[in-house]
Amino acid sequence: MPRLFLVAIGMLLPLLPSVAFGVDASWDVKLFSKSVYPGQIIVISLEKASFPSSNFKVTFSDLDIQLFNCPSKPDQNLCGIVPIPFETKAGSYEISARREDSGVTRALSFSVQSGLYKTVKIQVNDETVHVNSEDQERAKREWQETKEILHKYYPKLFWNTPFQLPVASKVTSPFGVKRVFNDVLQSYHQGVDLRAWTGTSIRAANSGIVRLASNRFYAGNSVIIDHGFGFFTSYAHLSRIDVKRDQSVEKGQVIGLAGATGRVSGPHLHWGATINGISVDAMQLKKSLQPIFPKISAKAKAR
Ligand SMILES: [Zn+2]
Repeated sequence: MPRLFLVAIGMLLPLLPSVAFGVDASWDVKLFSKSVYPGQIIVISLEKASFPSSNFKVTFSDLDIQLFNCPSKPDQNLCGIVPIPFETKAGSYEISARREDSGVTRALSFSVQSGLYKTVKIQVNDETVHVNSEDQERAKREWQETKEILHKYYPKLFWNTPFQLPVASKVTSPFGVKRVFNDVLQSYHQGVDLRAWTGTSIRAANSGIVRLASNRFYAGNSVIIDHGFGFFTSYAHLSRIDVKRDQSVEKGQVIGLAGATGRVSGPHLHWGATINGISVDAMQLKKSLQPIFPKISAKAKAR
């Protein structure tokens, strides 16, 4: 090969993007949403069919995102659920997707918006919020136990169909409402409240394994279901629990009855969802996962 030609190639090389090597030009990876609020999820999908032997690694901040076969195209695509913590400040962020064989990394940008969540100011005298030390101890112990459950990781996904509401009802208090007691931000609503009279059947939002079925100081009779891959849903204030710990449940199975147990003012279902211990809005999660499932024709739906 003439020397001049080699020199010319050498000069060109640094200018060539990775696509020049062919394979990566067609690497399809996308976020289903480019703009979210804190406490919501983003679904990512990436094409594995072109690189069947490759390992993919998806990260957001210091979080490793678990990938699973997309229910709509299990042979072609991988999907992942990225939870955006409630504390995330508004701004621009990136999710990184990397092919371990080639080292090629794609950065996918998205933005976090602010201003979705209302603040509720509550003025109370100290007597009303006072919890005796015994109950405080109990609540602390239960909080620790719950935290440990929600940070567990079961390496299998128990579902491949859409999530359903645990009770066909209306939202009475959405996720994320900030509660300010006597001008001090006390907490934010880490679940969504659904209207449900005492005795209404509460159903598993999807299949999984029961990890908690017991009475708690704040949440009353509670059930936590492990859906696999660090993904959990929880159900609180039940009047009756119909499942036991370590039991498998199917989507739609009755797990208990709605009630007003724990520290609540009236009967309702408090429904929560967490991924890797991060609380997310179960309603937004349910809706955002919809596109990863095969489309059901109107005909099939009617059956
Ligand atoms: Zn609630």
